[in-house]
Amino acid sequence: MKRRESLGLLALLLKAPDTLAAPTSPGQASIVAVRVWPAADYTRVTIESDQALAAKHFLVESPHRLVIDVEGLELSPDLRELIGKVKADDPYIAGVRVGQNTPTVVRIVLDLKQRVAPQIFTLTPVAAYKHRLVFDLYPKVEADPLLALAREHDKAPAAARRAEAAASAVNDALEELIQKIERPAPLPSPPPVVQTPATPPVAAASKPAPPPEPKPPAGSMDRLIVIALDPGHGGEDPGAVGPSGLREKDVVLAVGMKLRERLQTNPNIRVLMTRDADFFVPLQERVRKARRVQADLFVSIHADAFFTPQAKGASVFVLSDGAATSAAARWMANRENAADMVGGVNVGAATKDANVLRALLDMSTTAQIKDSLKLGSEVLGQIGRVGKLHKAKVEQAGFAVLKAPDIPSILVETAFISNPEEEKKLRDPDYQDQLVDALASGIAKYFGKNPPMARKRSTTL
Ligand SMILES: [Zn+2]
Repeated sequence: MKRRESLGLLALLLKAPDTLAAPTSPGQASIVAVRVWPAADYTRVTIESDQALAAKHFLVESPHRLVIDVEGLELSPDLRELIGKVKADDPYIAGVRVGQNTPTVVRIVLDLKQRVAPQIFTLTPVAAYKHRLVFDLYPKVEADPLLALAREHDKAPAAARRAEAAASAVNDALEELIQKIERPAPLPSPPPVVQTPATPPVAAASKPAPPPEPKPPAGSMDRLIVIALDPGHGGEDPGAVGPSGLREKDVVLAVGMKLRERLQTNPNIRVLMTRDADFFVPLQERVRKARRVQADLFVSIHADAFFTPQAKGASVFVLSDGAATSAAARWMANRENAADMVGGVNVGAATKDANVLRALLDMSTTAQIKDSLKLGSEVLGQIGRVGKLHKAKVEQAGFAVLKAPDIPSILVETAFISNPEEEKKLRDPDYQDQLVDALASGIAKYFGKNPPMARKRSTTL
């Protein structure tokens, strides 16, 4: 052993570790798999084993590292795989070392790129998984979501940036949306049939802007629209898997990223992605992210399975403050709400947040549901133009992810991935584009009819 390492080890041994609850059976466990899910939000390392594992951990400074002692484990090639699974661009982990510390304890040292606030917890077997030992590495200081949104916007395509510069004098998304998308008919005689423009309305707003319009009344125009897009599942939670292996988490992320691009061609729209990579975000965290940036809308994107492969068509769901509108809606909500179990949530840490959220929910959700139904029917109407609908009406059930009390929220099941034909369509980039057009049109139509209230939010976000 090199001198530096042995000194480091001595320092490690002198520190009192935080102890995780011991498992009931301390036999020798076998590793089933090791996985690493790097993301800007946090990096997760999962060790899946056939028996519950217990771990102690502590942090060491200069250089920063996290030391985890896993009990009841012998060093194996499966565990060594962890070393190769850390990518060079991982935001938190610089490298991994593993060694047999004592005959029954494996020591894992994560060399860190920055200070972290680790959460280490175990999960009991669920779905396809056996026992899981999870290390979540969060940044010591949480990133400012508004700053992240601005930075993301700075990375927007050049065309969108040019459009923004051209339209900056207009300074109001609503005026743009209403004038260019809705094309209001002259009063009092309405036109016979209003056709939806062939081009997606939001994209249309990226065309060179008209000359600056007269300055609007103070207070009503310094307004950006912030839309939270929520691709479902991710990371440990693959969501539904189609007959040929297409994973829901991948499809909905692709659709979500395309939709962000489409929406952001409008200079007055900012999009917050609850996830923009393959990592798991707990349901409450999705809601919290949207609330932190005071999103005007929340759109959760899914492509689930149903218990019969024949089921097909898109559906749109909103929250219910009572019973679900159908047994199928209730079934779907239960299924989606189970995502946290599969994805893996540190229950201990989540309890406090849950109480805060529950208190918020005691506030009336009636207004939120009313607005969500309006948004839902606009989106459903547009999706009905590009594909089949599972139900022609917006359905309601107790989806945990739709519970922001102050943000109109919908969950869109774009198609059933369990249906072989729909799985094929979901895989097709052209069909994804059509879906994105429909979602963008529905959102724009909603805003055209329901302008958001002026809020104190800067256009320089
Ligand atoms: Zn889903």
